[in-house]
Amino acid sequence: MKLIDGKELANQLKEGLRQKTDKLAAEGKRRPHLAAILVGNNPASESYVRNKVRSCEQAGFESTLIRRPADVSESELLAIIDELNNNPAIDGYIVQLPLPDHIHEQKLLLAIHPDKDVDGFHPMNFGKMAQGMDAFLPATPYGILLMLEHYGIETSGKEVVVIGRSNIVGTPMSILLSRKSNPGNATVTLVHSRTKNLKAHTLNADIIIAAIGIPYFLKADMVKDGAVIIDVGINRVEDATRKRGYRLVGDVDFEGLARKVSFMTPVPGGVGPMTVLGLLMNTMKAYLGR
Ligand code: NAD
Repeated sequence: MKLIDGKELANQLKEGLRQKTDKLAAEGKRRPHLAAILVGNNPASESYVRNKVRSCEQAGFESTLIRRPADVSESELLAIIDELNNNPAIDGYIVQLPLPDHIHEQKLLLAIHPDKDVDGFHPMNFGKMAQGMDAFLPATPYGILLMLEHYGIETSGKEVVVIGRSNIVGTPMSILLSRKSNPGNATVTLVHSRTKNLKAHTLNADIIIAAIGIPYFLKADMVKDGAVIIDVGINRVEDATRKRGYRLVGDVDFEGLARKVSFMTPVPGGVGPMTVLGLLMNTMKAYLGR
């Protein structure tokens, strides 16, 4: 089995971005600028946003973190979004999900100007993506496409099974891989919680993309020899041997699959860093498009 090292690839691509942004700065131009809105103190969200800020530094981007307490009002968040939409110094921004229950997530996402929607969640970008038009691609599927491309994994004519149908990972991933493009041109099956006999589908797959949120969901007896496995899941499982009391695992039984598959992403160090990279690429695209 060959490990798909998302961390290493993301570092390489960040270095490429760094060279571009240093050149811009040397020419007296401003650097790309990403902002993030973080509501409350969800530990996972804190960690994701920290990574995003650190990655901006590595790539030579400016970043701004806007924090609000969990009881912030929806109208205050909408006012911040309005300010960011109109702030010429900001190329793109994200609203870190999940949001507290009293905030209407869709209302916020619809308020983000599509030209600054570097997470690619706005229906304008989603619709353009679905029609094969130029758009900000959702960061996680974008990062996965970059990994498949870099590792020379052929998708054309392949059977792909995507597990999970979220708006941010599973559904856009299934669309992107079935488009007439490279990577793409695959025969894609999207399976989910209501799928009957899920194993019959995964056993037939050349490539499996797991985005479910259940630790060790995909087991060795569910995949065929030589399959390619992309593990999107990030799950915390208790681990008394770790100082913080938990460790991160994916949706895939990594140890069990290792001897059977041809390529696989680890968790952590696989899709996660490439998601952040996708966000940086979108921010660069927003910068260049202005
Ligand atoms: P989600 O949590 O919104 O939805 C889970 C999906 O899994 C649903 O579509 C559901 O139908 C499906 N599902 C649930 N139980 C199932 C079952 N028993 N059989 C088949 N399908 C089932 O999904 P999400 O937001 O895409 O997150 C999925 C996982 O990916 C989570 O662990 C999340 O933390 C992780 N994630 C990682 C990254 C990254 O950068 N690595 C980015 C986004 C999400």
